[in-house]
Amino acid sequence: MTAEPEPVEEQINGETAVANGADDADVVTPWTVKTSSATGIDYDKLIAKFGCRKLESDLITRLEALIEKPAHPMLRRGLFFAHRDLARILDLAEKKKPFFLYTGRGPSSGSLHLGHLIPFMFTKWLQDAFDVPLIVQITDDEKFLWRDIPLDKLGEIANGNIKDIISVGFDPRKTFIFKNTEYMCPAFYNNILKVWKVVTINQARAIFGFVGEDSMGKSAFPAIEAAPCFATSFPHIFGNKKNIPCLIPCAIDQDPYFRMTRDAAPRLKYEKPALIYSTFLPALQGAQSKMAGSDQNSCIFLNDTPNQIKNKINKYAFSGGQATTEEHRRLGGNCDVDSSFQFLRFFEEDDDKLAEIRQRYESGDMLSGELKKEAITIVQRVIGDLQARRKTVTDADVVEFARVKPLDFTF
Ligand code: ATP
Ligand code: MG
Repeated sequence: MTAEPEPVEEQINGETAVANGADDADVVTPWTVKTSSATGIDYDKLIAKFGCRKLESDLITRLEALIEKPAHPMLRRGLFFAHRDLARILDLAEKKKPFFLYTGRGPSSGSLHLGHLIPFMFTKWLQDAFDVPLIVQITDDEKFLWRDIPLDKLGEIANGNIKDIISVGFDPRKTFIFKNTEYMCPAFYNNILKVWKVVTINQARAIFGFVGEDSMGKSAFPAIEAAPCFATSFPHIFGNKKNIPCLIPCAIDQDPYFRMTRDAAPRLKYEKPALIYSTFLPALQGAQSKMAGSDQNSCIFLNDTPNQIKNKINKYAFSGGQATTEEHRRLGGNCDVDSSFQFLRFFEEDDDKLAEIRQRYESGDMLSGELKKEAITIVQRVIGDLQARRKTVTDADVVEFARVKPLDFTF
């Protein structure tokens, strides 16, 4: 199978692919995710607007055949719902040709939140399934440019975030986790320079919505998120191999960066990155916004205690239930707007149990308090497991994951 033809929207030319969403009710940018709809973002519309593709069941079946196990629940349930060029990565895997995984995190809050776990848990599953190298970029430079956080404080926040990421279960022999402010070596910088050269200010403005008052740094930053897509940024891992493509698991808010990168790649004679995109874990307050580190009230953090998790869900999790018990019994609840149910969709692994909860809640048999209890149990378990591993992660581990060394792969 050959690479898929590029959707028209990807031809960035200063006129298409406007990422600031000012034209409709849904705003999805790397910095803001909001909608006026209680059921959340209209993801089909977003696919059309961004010009990526829906992840159809035939690709999932192909992936399952290749890895000889069932797809991850988040894939089966359509929570990872869109992609670019995933078929090309499966072609390579079928031929036992190499690719690598790349994802990242911009350290803005001392602890990761539940939403951040989604790309990282899924990435861990992909890495185990395909046994490939993983690159994790920590964009401390991005948060310095966009937020009012001093550089030394960002260093601390970043180290804490890296420990959270390591707790997902990654192996330093297969995974390189680096901070941009530390890993600015010639190979990486050369690729940043090459991207800077081929993307115009007009394109950056059209894609990211930058305006004249924005700092120069903001316009410069996207190339730094683009460069790790290219294997030549990591000679200690890939040697002199130029054309090992990457697959990037992340939420769809990151698409503008990779739309830009995919446009630049052929002009640099590099492989385009492939992408697999998730929907957003909603804020506690409901699907009108995503759980976001910059809005502390919207989040369950990975360092919350079991009691804090319980109180947050009981107090703040938006309920799709009816106003009175009597009405709820009669009319049933609405799972599609209910934050607790959405948390279960992401984290309850048992399909039958999830279906039963939906059926019982929608029929009015299960009340909101009981649904919240189910969500609390699962979230406490997921976070409890992470916290147990987090206790064993040391400063030396952070150094080891960032050490510039070959990984356990030969190319
Ligand atoms: P901030 O509010 O400071 O921007 P953030 O919560 O948006 O923080 P980022 O560091 O910008 O987090 O994002 C890191 C990764 O996590 C990206 O791949 C992003 O798409 C993903 N992500 C962030 N929030 C969510 C969410 N609520 N659901 C799913 N994925 C998310
Ligand atoms: Mg963000």
